[in-house]
Amino acid sequence: MHQIIIIGSGPAGFTAAIYAARADLKPLLFASQIQVGGELMNTTEVENFPGFPEGIQGPDLMQKMQEQAERFGTEVVYDDITEVDFSGDIKKVTASDGTVHEAQAVIYATGSAYRKLNVPGEERLFGHGISSCATCDGFFFREKTIAVVGGGDSAMEEATFLTRFADKVYVIHRREELRASKIMQQRAFDNEKIEFVWNSAVAEVHGESGVTGVTLESTVDGSTSELEIEGLFVAIGNDPRTHLVHDKLELTAEGTIAVDGRSSRTSVAGVFAAGDVIDSSYRQAVTAAASGTVAALDAEHYIASLGG
Ligand code: NAP
Repeated sequence: MHQIIIIGSGPAGFTAAIYAARADLKPLLFASQIQVGGELMNTTEVENFPGFPEGIQGPDLMQKMQEQAERFGTEVVYDDITEVDFSGDIKKVTASDGTVHEAQAVIYATGSAYRKLNVPGEERLFGHGISSCATCDGFFFREKTIAVVGGGDSAMEEATFLTRFADKVYVIHRREELRASKIMQQRAFDNEKIEFVWNSAVAEVHGESGVTGVTLESTVDGSTSELEIEGLFVAIGNDPRTHLVHDKLELTAEGTIAVDGRSSRTSVAGVFAAGDVIDSSYRQAVTAAASGTVAALDAEHYIASLGG
């Protein structure tokens, strides 16, 4: 049996691992089978993580966090957890190969998943002209006219990044004011390849084997219009990844895992949660990392309280 199992390999998971490993708890960390490093693997330049005045690429930051966690003895398993059993004192998690792993404590740091538009054409064309990752797929849209949906930092970052490849990038936003930080807004406003389409929602995506256009619906008067594009990037936020624990841990009204005050303690003793999965407000790399620290310290105290 392990002392501590960490599920998730974003800033929360790896920071929890650094602290737990340095406390000699020999954490076993489940990274994903597909993408280790979480959401930051889909990002380009991270300019606001303290300690990197010149900025750092998201994947490089995650690589460094993993190295730091491994340096102190974290064991990283490249597999997904498909089932959890938190009912007893010994917590059990099942990996996709069917192996059951046991631990005294679990830190749940599964992050959040891209939100979908839920409009006709989206599912069919996802991966065929619709994407939620500009850094992964931007290259395919060289010299094309494309659109980004959303008004937050992600949408501004994606739109700005995509102008490296595309000839024109529309930003479709449902209001006439952006949610993004001022600096990201300004960067997008200053980019002459970006054109804003305000007060508009995507009602349908058209195309057979690739995207050919979208129907837009005005959020002011409901009128519709067509926009010809060859690619669509959806950047409308994320939802906490809680599907494995819906009936096992208490959730908040926002759908995040409920924790006790500023701690990481969930509704089940011995199960701690950290990062985007508990955070509907801040969701920054640095707040996720801090949250991972809290979870490791809480788990450490819990394990110590068990004695032996
Ligand atoms: P977000 O801040 O939640 O913004 C989501 C945007 O999508 C909002 O503008 C929202 O519109 C819009 N939206 C939501 N649901 C929609 C729907 N169904 N249809 C159309 N539009 C919809 O999400 P985010 O941009 O992914 O950012 C998440 C967090 O990560 C934020 O805290 C952000 O600061 C952070 N982040 C930081 C950086 C950076 O600093 N470099 C980069 C990326 C992300 P409304 O505005 O009308 O609600």
